Amino acid sequence: MLTRLTISTPRREVLQEITEAVAEVVRNSGVASGVCYVIVPHTTAAVTLNEAADPAVSTDTINYLAELIPREGLWLHAEGNSDAHIKASLYGHSAIVPIEDGELVLGNWQGIYLAEFDGPRQRLVLVKIIAG
Ligand code: ZN
Repeated sequence: MLTRLTISTPRREVLQEITEAVAEVVRNSGVASGVCYVIVPHTTAAVTLNEAADPAVSTDTINYLAELIPREGLWLHAEGNSDAHIKASLYGHSAIVPIEDGELVLGNWQGIYLAEFDGPRQRLVLVKIIAG
């Protein structure tokens, strides 16, 4: 079963939490034990797990990445979003979360984030659940 979530991002760069949307897909699947793959099929967005308790962590992360990989630079890519492509590659396009007792198994502070690096736009997030 593959579920497609459509997520709207509010600005160019943001870590947007999608934990509850993914958890709902898991609950609706009826799978008690297995793994949940969260996949972002884009080249300027990614997925990551990070602290969900303090929103300052997401802000610090985005700000630090912007400092490390500036939007303006000696980029060859004519679209003007090379920084977003690089950031998306560094983060990666997928995450895996175990499922037990029909729920995602996350650490106390962990949340699942769509990492937007070239928004605002609508993004697709694929959720693939494998029982076992
Ligand atoms: Zn591009």
